[in-house]
Amino acid sequence: MVQLPLPGHIQEKAIIEAISPEKDVDGFHPINIGRMMTGQDAFLPCTPYGVMVMLEYIDYDLEGKHVVIVGRSNIVGKPAGQLFLNANATVTYCHSRTKDLAYYTKQADVVVAAVGKRDTITSDHIKEGAIVIDVGMNRNDEGKLCGDVAFDEVKNKASYITPVPKGVGPMTITMLMKNTVKSAQKALEQNKQALKS
Ligand code: NDP
Repeated sequence: MVQLPLPGHIQEKAIIEAISPEKDVDGFHPINIGRMMTGQDAFLPCTPYGVMVMLEYIDYDLEGKHVVIVGRSNIVGKPAGQLFLNANATVTYCHSRTKDLAYYTKQADVVVAAVGKRDTITSDHIKEGAIVIDVGMNRNDEGKLCGDVAFDEVKNKASYITPVPKGVGPMTITMLMKNTVKSAQKALEQNKQALKS
């Protein structure tokens, strides 16, 4: 496993491409990203994967829903949007150059905040009853872990909201374990096939 970010003198692209796609349990290799984008079986990036599993757990039907993703990194925002698209949602990406963030987030049935700045999403950013998923991991003035969402005010407006800590973070770890087991099972299957032939 490669723990990102890497020190500046190491080329991230070269390291990620050196991982076997069959062992790419983080889902960062371009082959897995391509498979995910084309709807093929793939190792899905763990954080967006965990977000989808949470929504599955509450039986939320994403078809036709408007999902606004705030953040467009390669490991969270972009793949999250793709997974929502695969689930037939309508997806809008927002980022640091977006003008009037609230204009977009207020239209959303689901808001995913993956920014890395606390209080990016306040109650003025969401519509009544929206689902709010907070990926962010930041520190508040007291040094305590907090997300990108002003939890205390947004929780009164949202139908569901994930806390930080104990929200998306543990789901990411769980999906990493799931991908690891999947990779091991695949390797076992391949070994069995090789023994047969
Ligand atoms: P990046 O820094 O790579 O990306 C942040 C994104 O936020 C960028 O696309 C940036 O836009 C956008 N952004 C920055 N400021 C604003 C703003 N004011 N309004 C709208 N968009 C903005 O971060 P990551 O995606 O890697 O991580 C995001 C957060 O999620 C971090 O807090 C990280 O610690 C956390 N995280 C949590 C995980 C978990 O398991 N819970 C796993 C991975 C990350 P632009 O592209 O224009 O620069």
